[in-house]
Amino acid sequence: MMPSNPLRNLPSIHDLLENPTIKNLTDRINRNAAVSAVRTVLDEVRHEVQTAAADRTLPSVTDLAERIARRITEGQPCSLRSTSNATGILLDNGLGRVPLADEALLEMAAVARDYASVDLDLATNRPLLRNAAIEGLLQEITGAEAALVVNNNAGATLLALAALAAGREVIVARGQLIEMGEGYRLPNMIAASGAVLREVGTTNKCQAEDYTQAIGSATAALMSVHVGSLSVAGAESASLESLVEIGRQHKIPVIHNIGAGAMVDLCTFGLPGQPVAGESVQSGADLVLLCGDKFVGGPQSGILLGRRALLEKIERHPLARALRVDKLTLAGLAATLRLYRDPEKARYRIPLLQLLGTSTENLKNRAERIAPQVAALPVVAEATAIAEAADSAESDLARQLPTWCVSIRPATMSVEKLAVALRTGTPSVVGRVKDDRLLLDLRTVFPRQDIDLLAALESLDKQEGRKTPLTEEGI
Ligand SMILES: *Cc1c(COP(=O)(O)O)cnc(C)c1O
Repeated sequence: MMPSNPLRNLPSIHDLLENPTIKNLTDRINRNAAVSAVRTVLDEVRHEVQTAAADRTLPSVTDLAERIARRITEGQPCSLRSTSNATGILLDNGLGRVPLADEALLEMAAVARDYASVDLDLATNRPLLRNAAIEGLLQEITGAEAALVVNNNAGATLLALAALAAGREVIVARGQLIEMGEGYRLPNMIAASGAVLREVGTTNKCQAEDYTQAIGSATAALMSVHVGSLSVAGAESASLESLVEIGRQHKIPVIHNIGAGAMVDLCTFGLPGQPVAGESVQSGADLVLLCGDKFVGGPQSGILLGRRALLEKIERHPLARALRVDKLTLAGLAATLRLYRDPEKARYRIPLLQLLGTSTENLKNRAERIAPQVAALPVVAEATAIAEAADSAESDLARQLPTWCVSIRPATMSVEKLAVALRTGTPSVVGRVKDDRLLLDLRTVFPRQDIDLLAALESLDKQEGRKTPLTEEGI
């Protein structure tokens, strides 16, 4: 006789919700949360039974109810958590790009807690464009005639092209048609704006004549994109100055998308060749697009700088309303930009610039101080301070900066398992795995977080200790 399927005997969702242990809780919490907890636990049990090697008996209804009750009281774990970035990658997309300055946090908290004059001029009690709060600052810092802030750089690109080039052509060098991951492909963004992409040049070379030859009655704009680490080796493209020259001759606006452009020259931080927003404006680009996070160090946003006539046209487009920023972004970006009025202050107050400006000496001292403490933990077989920069493709910028890491060889688990345990632990730490070591790269760790690196590893020891109570004796 076929063995009957034990899963048939699982109680129904309805029955479980009526179970006194759970019913007690559901009287106090959102019913959907209870239903969802019941479903999740039932799914888990089904999976456990189906994948069990040997016959597995079903848990009793009491056990099930208790498990569900625990799930309900613990709540959903939130997948969005703060963490220490010990990857060495300064603008890590997965880790939200940049931490914000205290000044930005305070402003954001202030306007968040109360009502705020987002679209109202308090002096006249008349409507005010919310952009006004930020335009003045951007004019001061970059010398641009006009400025606008939207949701992000993808939004800035979409909006600019929709307003200036829909139904007409935008000329872009073939080698600059980048894909950034996270669903960003420039050709798709151009298509979504309604503009027609006119590719010129080859994947690795594009000269001024390539643009000139492509210009015709359908041309609405020339766009140059700073591709940075995404460029192919040996690629060459026409200078912004030559594009500006061509644009002037043909009366066609030149859009310069500088992506991770900065507000100050990053040369002094050891990062030559990074575009600076003000320089791009001074070079004569009619419209400059950049990210407000990345090297500016503000909240996620897209900044448009340029000629007033163009910005006015852009502001009137319906997409401007769809992509506008909220009061939190506005307040956080304004507070960040205010720090740039004094470049020295920006250097010390903007977290990203703090990380960039940390001396190698400082990183070395900290790595050498942390390593022996880490080495003393039972979960660790060996820990040393080493000078080694990240070498993955995304971390091209990080590679240019010297750094120091704490290199850890675990004693009781694989290096992959250690990396997972640190990421998901409390406090959470994201490092990078290199061969059989876990590297904690201090370039992206704030000195105040050094203690978290240790605490994270110590908490693993405690967990390990629970399973093998060997670690107590030294106390
Ligand atoms: C980062 C970047 C983008 C995407 O910017 P978001 O603000 O994430 O939308 C687009 N283009 C370039 C050149 C970039 O560097």
